[in-house]
Amino acid sequence: MRTGQTQLFIPGPTNVPEVVRQAMNVAQQDMRAHDFGDLTLPIFADLKTLFRCETGRVMLFPGSGTAAWEAAITNTLNTGDRILIARHGQFSTLWAQMAERLGLVVEAIDLAWGAACPVNEIARRLGADREGAIKAVFVTHNETATGVTSDVAGVRRALDECFHDALLFVDGVSSIGSLDFRMEEWGVDLAVAGTQKGLMCPAGLGILGVSDKAMAASRTATMRRAYFDFADMAAMNAVGQFPYTPPTPLLHGLRRALDRILREEGLDAVIARHRRLAEAVRRGVAAMGLEIVAEHHSICSDTVTAIRVPEGVDARDVIRIAYDEFNTSLGSGLGPLNGRVFRIGHLGDLNEAMVLTALSVAELALVRAGADLRFGAGVGAAQAHFAAQRGTAPRMQIAAE
Ligand SMILES: *Cc1c(COP(=O)(O)O)cnc(C)c1O
Repeated sequence: MRTGQTQLFIPGPTNVPEVVRQAMNVAQQDMRAHDFGDLTLPIFADLKTLFRCETGRVMLFPGSGTAAWEAAITNTLNTGDRILIARHGQFSTLWAQMAERLGLVVEAIDLAWGAACPVNEIARRLGADREGAIKAVFVTHNETATGVTSDVAGVRRALDECFHDALLFVDGVSSIGSLDFRMEEWGVDLAVAGTQKGLMCPAGLGILGVSDKAMAASRTATMRRAYFDFADMAAMNAVGQFPYTPPTPLLHGLRRALDRILREEGLDAVIARHRRLAEAVRRGVAAMGLEIVAEHHSICSDTVTAIRVPEGVDARDVIRIAYDEFNTSLGSGLGPLNGRVFRIGHLGDLNEAMVLTALSVAELALVRAGADLRFGAGVGAAQAHFAAQRGTAPRMQIAAE
């Protein structure tokens, strides 16, 4: 039996705030009632604000982020289309694999896990593609396996500079709602998210931003789709409904989470908080003498940090000890990083005290797993960072609506 709270520092699902949990405790309601749109239409509008999407639309598909990956592909591309994607972590690798399984030709750029999406190489390949064979470029904005954030605006510039017409697909599952993301400004055509990461809700809805260009592509794209069809979804969404039964309690939770992000804390403050907490994690990890997977500080993610364990230590032991002995979940090393890396997820409903707990338990579990490090080094560096910031931390403000 476990006493006290179990600490969750995995990069999804993330902690669900108490107010969001309470908001989901609702009676079931009539999803064909004429006033169902009172709940859903403001959610669709708020998601557009969150995605910084002006001309397109945002759709919700029952499912997880992976469902939105599939919806994006099957609605806008044709079997045999060539897509360009960098593989530099588990999520970019899985998305490329899905594209292949769905019948696309995948032109992959294989990089070290820890690298960012290579904008120059993408530009070179687009420039060389005179016939426009590449129909889409896929970018994993935040590679959750490695803790690396990529330059989506740079990829958009590369497309524009070669007057290339490919659709820009972006996986923002662990970035949208936590990191700076600008669907309109960056010309993103398909932007994928999910409810269980930065949006602080349980899993259950894949969220997809769709540009007008992507919507137009969906009218002629011939790939088979049924459940995820944009036309069915758009037609029902216009009157605030879904083509099938949506998870209404989750919609109430999302409603409350969006209020928190957009109206109570404010999106800019949310992004600044993620930066502040991430910086403390990075300083803590450096002070422990450990390396991170991200190849350069300029590409470090503000939502997740992937940390290499010292030689002779098995990261699986660190994770197991943290969980079994100290009620704390740390993220595992995915794919080839398994056993060599653990991750601290620092996105969603998080504060300074929680970051200190994560670092403190990580130190404890590392030492119990055989690492030679000095207790308190990491925690102390994070404390020093927070102390230096004191007074400048934005307070939560309830906007007068
Ligand atoms: C979590 C995650 C996914 C997968 O999302 P699910 O909701 O688990 O289907 C995809 N991409 C990235 C970058 C993620 O972090």
